[in-house]
Amino acid sequence: MTEHRHPHEAGHEAGPCCGGDAVIERAERLCRERDLQFTRLRRDVLKAVAEAGRPLGAYDIAERLSEPGRRVAAVSVYRALDFLTEHDLVHRIASRNAFVPCAHSHGEGAGLVFMICRSCGGIDETTSPEIEDQLGRTLARAGFRPASRILEVEGECEACLQREGAA
Ligand SMILES: [Zn+2]
Ligand SMILES: [Zn+2]
Repeated sequence: MTEHRHPHEAGHEAGPCCGGDAVIERAERLCRERDLQFTRLRRDVLKAVAEAGRPLGAYDIAERLSEPGRRVAAVSVYRALDFLTEHDLVHRIASRNAFVPCAHSHGEGAGLVFMICRSCGGIDETTSPEIEDQLGRTLARAGFRPASRILEVEGECEACLQREGAA
């Protein structure tokens, strides 16, 4: 497991590292390799999440995909999100009940740390082998088997801190 981190510009605009194209390309490759169906809805949902530049809830996504005369049901969006989450193409931020794209290729079930900025609402993702190790040991000691190992930490992001400092 390698540590990855990509600082975002102020406002957490989707950059080349996590923008729509990179994540769609990764999804296409992954679905080809695993013989999975990348249906139009799955693609549309992923694109909406990737292009939003902020975490989106399922109802927001349904709203974005709906056109006059063609409503996309939230339940269909949830089903597509289940698929995308299962394959680590998007991650669910539990504390926000919202979804963010993932253009990284960390291992499935990797320990992830989400840094959630209270000022701009941006969310950055990183992996931490140290935390993963320690958390694994702590959980094992407690005899607890985790379904996921995702930490969500709220605070102020680097860009917001710098803006504050400059003001
Ligand atoms: Zn990820
Ligand atoms: Zn921020």
